[in-house]
Amino acid sequence: MPTFSITTYGCQMNKNDSERMAGLLSSLGFSETPDESVADLIIVNTCSVRQSAEDRVYGSQEKYLEYKKTKPDMIVAVTGCMPGRDKARAFRQRLPGTDLYFPTPEMVHLPRWIAELRPELVNSDSLEADYLKIHPMRAPSAQAFLTIQTGCNKFCTYCVVPYARGLERNRPAADILREARELIAHGVIEITLLGQTVNSYRATDPETFSKDNPYKDHYAALLWEMNQLPGLERLHWTAAHPLSMSDEVIHALALPKQVNYLHLPVQSGNNEVLRRMNRKYTREQFMEVIKKVKASRPGIALGSDIIVGFPGETREQFNDTLSLYEEVGFDISYNAQYSPRSGTLGVKLYQDDISKDEKRDRWDELQSLMEKLSLEKNQNFVGKKVSVLVDKCDNGYASGQSHEMKLTRFKCDDASLVGNIVPVEVKEAKSWVLEGERVAS
Ligand code: SF4
Repeated sequence: MPTFSITTYGCQMNKNDSERMAGLLSSLGFSETPDESVADLIIVNTCSVRQSAEDRVYGSQEKYLEYKKTKPDMIVAVTGCMPGRDKARAFRQRLPGTDLYFPTPEMVHLPRWIAELRPELVNSDSLEADYLKIHPMRAPSAQAFLTIQTGCNKFCTYCVVPYARGLERNRPAADILREARELIAHGVIEITLLGQTVNSYRATDPETFSKDNPYKDHYAALLWEMNQLPGLERLHWTAAHPLSMSDEVIHALALPKQVNYLHLPVQSGNNEVLRRMNRKYTREQFMEVIKKVKASRPGIALGSDIIVGFPGETREQFNDTLSLYEEVGFDISYNAQYSPRSGTLGVKLYQDDISKDEKRDRWDELQSLMEKLSLEKNQNFVGKKVSVLVDKCDNGYASGQSHEMKLTRFKCDDASLVGNIVPVEVKEAKSWVLEGERVAS
């Protein structure tokens, strides 16, 4: 049986794409090997968000050339964001150990390409026209990611996604709901819907939505349909764009299966920086959305993505980000130091004029604020009951995420709890973990 190994960098979307490639390869008779040095096919699914992620791909080439000394017919494929944005194939020149180099949607051609290189491995060239229709192969789990959209039309000036993944493309609602039902039938109780700006979802088949669906906004309507699926206990989605937080989507945050958490990237708290980032909203508009979200779902935990050291960001403008962070009262944010990415408008329009040290200082300051606020927020849970979807049980402790997406840990050696939602009373709060005790429902 031919074997494959996949290395994945980057976001959940890339992980779900890797599951799709694993599904495609297993349908061709391949099996996954934990030892890539003996694999017939190695796939590297790349991320371009930061230079460091791309550097790791360049750095791995020596290793593949070494493997090929003992296994000369090994096929090494590089896919994901790097080939997606490498229109001039300049990065390709730096990947001497690579045989196949293709953007994600072209994974549909893998059977033919493998057959051309190693005819003995594949005897079928049948393929799906659309890679999003390929069935992902997932490890058994109570949680699953479900891609509903790929690409993006927003063109934030720092971001490679519209170049790497192309313009926004949405899956039919019928396909999404069918995949969700299959996941539930296989024991999944929590689904995370994935899209680059997931809440801008537009169904190509709105007639799929039920007659009694109360929403006109396609994304809110999809959330409502997901809420009707028997067996699904939790619904989560990422990443939302503030501009697409329509009143109906905000209303749908209160649907019963929706987790008590919203991830809403803001990127900066200063209007001039937001304008140069091409985020297309102001601080005031963002705060208006937050106000409505909190009214629709009081007590909701909030997360965000923030970039510090964007070109031209003054100390005062960075202070606006700190003040916005406090004003919103985020529970968590994923903070990044601006990194210029070739091909983006940011590189063409602005000079990367904030020093590395200054970026680092601002990042440290934001991290400290985040940790302080996170601890304060978590302390509000002490003495309260949270429901935890257990995903791990070892060394006498079980852990998983609460409804608010907070890591929660409790003493337990009953491995049968993995995959179940259990009530836990919080005894102690730390910045990044709630410590508790399992209690009766
Ligand atoms: S919304 Fe902006 S940051 Fe998000 S994927 Fe699209 S271009 Fe990138």
